[in-house]
Amino acid sequence: HTRAEFREWMKYIVEIIIDYKEHPEVYQVLIDREPGFIINNWNQTAPEEPDEFKDILKDIMSKVMPNMTHWQHPRFHAYFATGCSYPDILADTLISGFGNISFNWDSCPAYAEMEVIVMNWLGKVFGLPDQFLFTIPNPNKGKGGGAMQDSASDCVLVALITARDRYVKKFEGQRIQAMTENKENENPTKKTSPLEDREMLNNFTDRKEHHVELPYLVAYASKEAHSCLEKATKLTCVHLRVVDTNDNMEMTWGELKSAMEHDIEMNRIPIFVHVTTGTTATGAFDKLKDIGKGLRNYTALPHKKGLQKDFIERIMKEIWIHVDGAYGGSLWTLPTGRSDKTGYTGLVYADSVNINLHKIFLHSSSAGCIWTKNQKRLKQAMNVDPVYLKPADDRAIDFRNYGIPLTRRQRFMKAWFVLRMYGVKGMQAYISQLIKMSKHMRALLERNPYVELIGQLTYTVSCIRLNAKRNLTEEEEKQNQNGKTLARPEPIPEEERNQLTEELAAFINKTCLLAVTKAKPKGKTVVRISVSH
Ligand code: PLP
Repeated sequence: HTRAEFREWMKYIVEIIIDYKEHPEVYQVLIDREPGFIINNWNQTAPEEPDEFKDILKDIMSKVMPNMTHWQHPRFHAYFATGCSYPDILADTLISGFGNISFNWDSCPAYAEMEVIVMNWLGKVFGLPDQFLFTIPNPNKGKGGGAMQDSASDCVLVALITARDRYVKKFEGQRIQAMTENKENENPTKKTSPLEDREMLNNFTDRKEHHVELPYLVAYASKEAHSCLEKATKLTCVHLRVVDTNDNMEMTWGELKSAMEHDIEMNRIPIFVHVTTGTTATGAFDKLKDIGKGLRNYTALPHKKGLQKDFIERIMKEIWIHVDGAYGGSLWTLPTGRSDKTGYTGLVYADSVNINLHKIFLHSSSAGCIWTKNQKRLKQAMNVDPVYLKPADDRAIDFRNYGIPLTRRQRFMKAWFVLRMYGVKGMQAYISQLIKMSKHMRALLERNPYVELIGQLTYTVSCIRLNAKRNLTEEEEKQNQNGKTLARPEPIPEEERNQLTEELAAFINKTCLLAVTKAKPKGKTVVRISVSH
């Protein structure tokens, strides 16, 4: 293809993007199709001969665009809408155009160094304590640092792998010594299962210590934590203990402590606490400050059963506290968002934190960020060092050792463009506007006598549950539009509310005019409405 052709095609693409961004509402927000509608109707093999650009584009415009879920649509209130912005698109285009792969410093020095800068910029924008940031001029030397990942799921997995590695390296073999009773039954040298058979493990793995300890390690999170933690525990073979929440859907220190103490009595080892600041369903913030303080100052009672007091205290102080701020972390951009309520003041106790830029931060596609106060631990857990990847200079930063993939999609450029083209003040104004819109929507819902609001509005998510039914008369409808509160119509019995609310969510989405998500915080089915762009 020639450069003249490319220039021409690019013009088309730019115009399509502008039209779409300015008027996504010309489409229905959702589509009503059966699975397979494309699979069964398109060529099953790639073309032998090249297709014309105009034909390809025609297919995209006629078959793909009308059948997308339109995340940029003004009535898209499902999940967390991605905030697709022009700076973000510009950066994505450049990155594709440059076509570089960067996994270590040598593979693309400028990218590696810019990611350090961007991670520190972002960390400061979110007001993270300095211990989470890279030290300049030698980012490898200091304790803190972070990296961009594909998603929050990757960040959580990396944090859990690090926690598991830290426990095993620090405490390997000590659990047995610390048990107050039943030592024989729990002796890992006893050949009760292949996992406990050290001799066998010696023959085939250099990670034997992990396998021996695995059956006893536990991660903790609230019932409202995102399912990515459950996946991470599956992948790491760490047990997951689900902790109940209070009525506001927040995990408290009291509930967490009793779950942990129960496990300690059973000789199990708490290694990881996953605290969500901004849950997916209701936007609740777990009590990070209380939890952090409680864990770091924990004094154990001498247990009759279970592990010895001093060992318990040592593992509780070392427990890895991870903060999932995938959604809620962006709220810390605002000085008013930095409080006990939003978990901000508890960050001093955390070991790692993740925030997604593709939720509320004007990034269109996945961009999860993780920061830790202990990058050495993280890299020890993730590090592999084949000769062909070794850096020539040990001051060089190697992002391949901060996560799972070697070849990484480059996201720093997006954040770099977004932050430079809007500035911190622009981002603060944008987030304040989202909150204002959410409050407005909440006020409308509060006046609606047919629904009950579930959960508090801390940020931009509201959940409603049907609590009454009756068709409005014309007169009543008029009053409703005038903003007057109506007399409460016929209440729905508690046992029918979940079912009817579920039907309401399905009905709304079936209309294809409004997109919402169904959720079930604390066993209550809700229609979840997010105002996130
Ligand atoms: N954590 C929270 C609180 C979330 O809301 C989500 C997604 O909505 C995730 C984690 C998972 O994010 P990702 O899709 O980036 O893996």
